[in-house]
Amino acid sequence: MRSHLLIPLAAATVATSLIGAAQARAQDNPTGDPIVQKIYDEGMHHSQLERLAQPLMDSIGPRLTGSSANRAANDYLLKTYKSWGIDARNEKYGTWRDWTRGKSTLELVSPRYRVLEATMHAWSATTPAGGVTADVVMIPPASQTRDSAGFARWLQTAKGKLVLISEPQTTCRPNEDIRMWADSATYQHALFQRDSAATEWRSRFTGAGINARGLPAMLARAGVAGVLSNGWSRGWGVDKIQSSRAGDVPSFDVSCEDYSLLARLASNGQGPRVHAIAEAKLAPTESPVFNTIAQITGSEKPNEYVMLSAHLDSWDSGSGGTDNGTGTITMLEAMRILKTVYPHPKRTILVGHWSGEEEGEIGSSAFAADHPEVLKGLQSLFNQDNGTGEIDTVQTNGFIDAAPSLARWMSRMPVDMIRNVTLMLPGVPHDESTDSDAFDCYGAPGFFLTSSDWSYTDYTWHTNRDTYDKINFDNVKRNATLVALFAYEASEDPNFVSRTRIEGGINPRTGQPMRVPRCEVPPRSWESTQRR
Ligand SMILES: [Zn+2]
Repeated sequence: MRSHLLIPLAAATVATSLIGAAQARAQDNPTGDPIVQKIYDEGMHHSQLERLAQPLMDSIGPRLTGSSANRAANDYLLKTYKSWGIDARNEKYGTWRDWTRGKSTLELVSPRYRVLEATMHAWSATTPAGGVTADVVMIPPASQTRDSAGFARWLQTAKGKLVLISEPQTTCRPNEDIRMWADSATYQHALFQRDSAATEWRSRFTGAGINARGLPAMLARAGVAGVLSNGWSRGWGVDKIQSSRAGDVPSFDVSCEDYSLLARLASNGQGPRVHAIAEAKLAPTESPVFNTIAQITGSEKPNEYVMLSAHLDSWDSGSGGTDNGTGTITMLEAMRILKTVYPHPKRTILVGHWSGEEEGEIGSSAFAADHPEVLKGLQSLFNQDNGTGEIDTVQTNGFIDAAPSLARWMSRMPVDMIRNVTLMLPGVPHDESTDSDAFDCYGAPGFFLTSSDWSYTDYTWHTNRDTYDKINFDNVKRNATLVALFAYEASEDPNFVSRTRIEGGINPRTGQPMRVPRCEVPPRSWESTQRR
C-alpha cells in the first residue's frame, strides 16, 4: 500500500498575492525559494536531454563492461562535464575482458533456406573463418536419456552439432494477447499447454541430474559446434540477451519464433541444418575499466557529499537505452542544471557513472571501497536504474530516520514534481542488485528512485529492444529536474541525515524477511572471478 506524502498548507497559500504567469509558477513552489524556481525552469524549460542522449545511445551504442565503447562513453561524459566547467575524472578501478562484437548470422540451410533472427551472446567465442554448417539437435526428452549415464551417452552424439538448450515456447504470442482474443476456456488451455511444456522441459535436466546453468559449458567440453538458446521476454519480438556461458564455443540467442521452428524441425526428425557465423574481437589482455566521477565542490562543507548515481555500462544486444541510458542522462542533466543555477553548493555534489554494474555492481562497490571519506561524509546518495518511467517512489532502503529529511525536502519542491511520488516508509533495505547497495551496505544512506515500469521488466530490461526510441523524454526531463531538486535540498539542509537503519522485519512487498545488503569485496579483474 502506498503512503502518499501530504503537501504542506504553505503550498496553497504562499503566492496568492501574485498575478499572471508568475502566480501560476509561484503557487507551484511552496517556499518561494528562488533556487528551486530556477532549477525547475532550467530542467523543465531548457532541457538538453535529447542532445545528450542521442550520441551516447546511437553513435557510441551499447556499453558492455570492458569494451572500447564503454571507455568511449566514459570519455564522452568527461568531455561533456569539462565543457560545462565541471571537474570530472575517469577513475580506474580494475580491468575486464575487452570484447567487441562483429558479424553474427544464423541461416537455416535445410530443409529450406531462411535467415534466422539471432544474436550472438556477449563474450561469445567465435566460429572458424567462414563459419560452420552443422546439424541442429535438441536436449533429448527424459524418456530417452533416463539418468546421468543416459545423458552422457547422448552427449557423445552431440559432438560437432549445434544444440538447442532452451525450452521452446508453445507460442510466442504473449499471454495478454491470448487473453484479449480467446474465450476463457481457450485461454486457460493455452496457459496449461505452456505450463506443461515447461514442466516437461525441466524433466529433461532433473532426471539426468544436470544443472541447466552449467549445461552450456558441459556441452562445450563435449565438443559441440555451438549452443542456441532463447531468452524470450514474454512480449512480441523481445528477448533478454546477456552473456555467453558456453566457454570456447559460439553461443547465440535465437528469437522465440525461429527457436521454436528449429525445435519443431529437430523433434520431428526433419533434419534442420544451420550455417553459423560468429565474429568478434577479444583483446589478448584485459583492459582498464573506469567509473566517471564528476563533482561540484562544496563551499561550506566540502567534505560532506550529496551523490548522484547511475550505471553507465549496459548489455549489448540493444543500445542500453533504458538500462541504464535513462539513469545516465538523468544524472548528467541534473549536474548541468545544478552547475547552471546552483554553482556553489554548501556540500560537495558528486556524481558516479559506474561501470561493471551488470556484472554485480563492481564499479560502485570499488568506488565505495576506495573512498571511505565519501562514505563517512555521505549526506545522501540518489540512484536510478529502472528505465524511462516517471520516478514514482523514493525507497528509503530501511534508513528509518532519514525519511523525515526526505519528506522535508520533498515538501519544499514544486507540487507538480512530487504530486505522484510516494515516499516508502519505513522503507525496505534494498538488496536487489543495483548500485545504491554498494553504499547502503556500509550504512551510508543510499536511496533508490524507482520509476514506473513502462514495460521495462518485459520489453526493455536486458533486451534486444532497449534502444534510444524507448526513452520518453518528458518523463526523463521531469526525473532530472527532480534529482537536481533532491541534490539541492540535501546540500542545503543544516542537518546531516540519520544513518539509523531498521534490521530484520518483514518486507511488505515480498512478505519475506528483510535482508540488509552485505558489502562484498569487488573483483578487480575478470580473471580473478574465474578463480572464485
Ligand atoms: Zn541497470
